[in-house]
Amino acid sequence: MQYELPEALVQVRDNLRRFVAEEIEPRAGVIEETNDIPDALLAKAAALGLFGLSIPEEYGGSGTSEVATCVALEALGHGPGGVTFYVAPSAPAAAIRFAGTEEQRRKYLPALARGDAIPAFCLTEAGAGSDAAGIKTRAVRQGDRWVINGSKLWISRARRAGVFLVSAVTDPEKRGKGGVTIFILDKRPGITVGKADRLLGVAGSGSAEVSFENCEASDADVLGTVGGGFDVLKFILGRARLWASARAVGMCSRALELSVAYADARVQFGKKIGEFQAIKLKLADMACDLYTSRLLLYRAAALFDQDLDPVQEVSMAKLFCTEAAGRAADMAVQIHGAMGLSREFQVERLYRDCRAFRIIDGTSDLQRMMIASNVQKRGIGEALAPGGLV
Ligand SMILES: Cc1cc2nc3c(=O)[nH]c(=O)nc-3n(C[C@H](O)[C@H](O)[C@H](O)COP(=O)(O)OP(=O)(O)OC[C@H]3O[C@@H](n4cnc5c(N)ncnc54)[C@H](O)[C@@H]3O)c2cc1C
Repeated sequence: MQYELPEALVQVRDNLRRFVAEEIEPRAGVIEETNDIPDALLAKAAALGLFGLSIPEEYGGSGTSEVATCVALEALGHGPGGVTFYVAPSAPAAAIRFAGTEEQRRKYLPALARGDAIPAFCLTEAGAGSDAAGIKTRAVRQGDRWVINGSKLWISRARRAGVFLVSAVTDPEKRGKGGVTIFILDKRPGITVGKADRLLGVAGSGSAEVSFENCEASDADVLGTVGGGFDVLKFILGRARLWASARAVGMCSRALELSVAYADARVQFGKKIGEFQAIKLKLADMACDLYTSRLLLYRAAALFDQDLDPVQEVSMAKLFCTEAAGRAADMAVQIHGAMGLSREFQVERLYRDCRAFRIIDGTSDLQRMMIASNVQKRGIGEALAPGGLV
C-alpha cells in the first residue's frame, strides 16, 4: 500500500500554497466586495496552467491524473472559496472529454484549458435540484434544428461564461434516463445570464440564473447521444463530487492551521489557550477529521485513475470531507472567540465558504441515500471493499 505523495506532487502542492498566499489571499477583500474575481488573478491562474487541470495534454491541458488534480485543488482550497469555482477543473470540460466528438474536443478543450473560454454547467432548475430527472427545460426538434427553452438556477461561473453545457428534456415520455440530452453551446442568441447571486460565502463564484429562450442548436451541439444525457451526467457528477471533496479538504486543513496558530498566540488566565484541554480536544478532532478526509479523498481519486468507477467511495468522500470541513470551520470560529466572527479575519470567511460544499454536486443527505442503498443492495463486503482491500 502506498500512501506518500510523489515528490513532484509535493512540489505542486507547495507552489500552489504559495500562489494562494501571495496572489489570491491579498485579493480576498476585493473578491468579497465585488462578488467577482479580478481579471488579473484569472490571468495569473491561466499562466500557471490551472484551467487545464484534468484536460488531456493533446487538447492543451496539463493532463493531470485525478490524484494530482486533487492535490492542486486541496492547495487552492486554502484560499477564498469562490476562486476555486473558476480556478478548478470544470464539469463541462470533463463532459467534453468523456462524451465529446473529436470536433467538439478540438473546438472547446484548448480554449477552456487556456482560460480563454469559461464554461457553465446548467442542470439545476427551480423545480429540479436533487431530483435531476425533474428538469423541465425542453429541446424540441424543428426541421434540422433543436430549439431550447427553459431556465437554470444557481449556475456557477455563469457571469463570465462563454460555453454552456445544458441538460434538456428531448423525450418527455421518458423521465430522466433516455429522455434527457446534453447540449454544448457557445454563447449565442437566446441565452441570457441574470445578475450575480449573492450567496452565503463563495463570493465571486459567478453564480447566476441562465435562461434559454428559443435558443437554436444543431446536431453537432449534442454531447454524446440524443437521450444519453444521464450517462454524461453520471460521469460529470462523479468527478464534480471528487473535486468538491478536495476543495473541502483544503478548507479543513486551513481551519486547523489557523486554529493551531491562534491557540498558540492567544493568552487567557495567564496561559496560552492551546494549553486548555477544551481547546486541545477540538484540535484533536479536527486533526482526525482532516486525516480521515485525506484518506477517503485520495483513495477515491486513485480508483478513478485506475479507470474504475468508485461511485461508493466518491459519495463517502464527498459526504465526509465536506461535513468535516464544516465541523472544522465551526470549531475554528469557537477557538477564535469573537475574532472568529470578525470580517477582518480569514476564519469567518472560511466558515461561510465551506457551507456551500455540503449542498453542491449532491447534498450530504443525497450522498447518504446512495451510500446506504449501495450497502443494502450489494452487502457490506462488496460495497465497501472493492478488490478486497479492506
Ligand atoms: C454554491 C452553489 C453552486 C452551484 N452550482 C451549480 C452549477 O454550476 N450548476 C448547476 O446545475 N447547479 C448548481 N448548483 C445547484 C446545486 O446543484 C443544488 O443546489 C443541489 O443539487 C441541491 O438542490 P436544491 O438546492 O434544489 O435542494 P433540494 O433538492 O430542494 O433539497 C432540499 C433539501 O431536501 C433534501 N432532499 C431532497 N431530496 C431528498 C431525498 N430524496 N432524500 C433525502 N433528502 C432529500 C436535500 O438533502 C436538502 O436538504 C449550485 C448550488 C450552490 C449552492
